[in-house]
Order: sequence, then structure tokens, then C-alpha cells
Amino acid sequence: SLQPVAMARPPPDILRIDWPRDGGPPSAATLAALDRAADLLRRGGLVAIPTETVYGLAANAFDPEAVAGIFRAKGRPAGNPLIVHVSGAEQARALSSAWPPAAAALAAAVWPGPATVVVPRSPRIPGIVTAEGPTVALRCPAHPVSRLLIERAGIPLAAPSANRSEAVSPTTAQHVLAGLGHRVDLILDAGSCERGIESTVVDCTTTPPRILRPGPLSRAELEAAVG
Ligand code: AMP
Ligand code: MG
Repeated sequence: SLQPVAMARPPPDILRIDWPRDGGPPSAATLAALDRAADLLRRGGLVAIPTETVYGLAANAFDPEAVAGIFRAKGRPAGNPLIVHVSGAEQARALSSAWPPAAAALAAAVWPGPATVVVPRSPRIPGIVTAEGPTVALRCPAHPVSRLLIERAGIPLAAPSANRSEAVSPTTAQHVLAGLGHRVDLILDAGSCERGIESTVVDCTTTPPRILRPGPLSRAELEAAVG
């Protein structure tokens, strides 16, 4: 009898992004790559993106089907909530149902940067993003590629590290390709991540706020920011 043919999905396209180091304007090729990624994200695709910490596996945070794709691609347990990446404090505030003073202080002092704030979740965020919990983790990344992508897409991006669950977090596009392969639709390659460790996570729903996960920003830096 005939056996079904295993339909291998093709490997993802890798788009090289050459960001000007002098802070000048991005090239037309870079803007075209960002717009292709933004379009794919708005249509529910999965895009691996560079941030200053590690590469993230991004999907439209407003689209529960797209977010389900992140959990499938990573083999991530549904009980492990995702960090939502935003273009700035204003967007973060719009995704929370309360914006505690500690979150406002941290956002003002360390964003864009490697600190994530946990705040009460707005009903605009689907439950799958937060493992059905009442809070949401939010961060504005410092990497110009991820930040401009979020702005151009016009949507917040749910994005855990772009590796299979339990594997090492990727700091290059090649790591992403080796770990996730055809499970991702597109990879934006902007070279190596600067920091290589995940963001510091701070719970801002308690007084005083608590560090849930240590990271690139030290306790002293966070305390100075919160006051
Ligand atoms: P990853 O995306 O793999 O770097 O993991 C994100 C981590 O952020 C999770 O493993 C949690 O520890 C933390 N996190 C995300 N959302 C929340 C939340 N709503 N409350 C507390 N911690 C969270
Ligand atoms: Mg991870």
C-alpha cells in the first residue's frame, strides 16, 4: 500500500539586516526586510528576531493562534508565560490594567533595555500569552531592529527565546536555524546579540517590587531606578 509522503517544510528565509553602527538611517534593503517581517507577523507568522539579550521567536501578541504556534515550535509547556515586547512605555501601559509606580519608574529609567516588568494584564492580551494568569510581562528591547520592527508592525510581539524548550538560548541567526529550522517562517539576521543573557524580570504587582529572574541589570541598578 502507498505510504504517505512526509512533507518536509522548506527551511526559513534568512534576511541579513545591516544596521548602521553610526546611528544613521537604515538602508532601503533593511526597511524592506523589516516590512516583510512585519507583514508576516500581522498575518500570524513566526519570525525570529534579534534583541540585545538573545534571539526571540516572535508572534503577534494579540493573535492567540499565532501565539499557540510559538508554544508548538518550541515544545514549550502552556504553563510557562511569554514576555510581550513593546515599542515603549506608552504601549506597555495600554496592555496593562494597572500601571504601578514601580513599573513607570523602571520603564523611564531602563527602557529601552534588558528589564521586564510584570504588571496586571489588560483583557486585550489573550490568556494563552500569560498562561491564563492575571499578570503580563512587558519589555521594550534596546536593539534597534526589534524596536523598529514592533513600530512598523504596529502590534506588540510575544517573544520567548528562539530555541526549543530547555535548549540553550540562541545569540546568532545560525543558532536559531540549527535549533528551530523549518518551525520558524523567517529569521532576521543582525549578527550576534550583545548581551547573551535573558532580561531581568521584576514583579511590579507587589510593594516593594521583587526580582523574579536575575539578568543583565543588577539589583543595585534596579533599586536606584525604582528609588
Ligand atoms: P523566556 O521567554 O523563556 O525568557 O521566559 C520568560 C520568563 O518570564 C518566564 O519563564 C517567566 O519566568 C517570566 N514571566 C513571563 N510572564 C510572567 C508573568 N506574567 N508573571 C511572572 N513571570 C513571568
Ligand atoms: Mg528561554
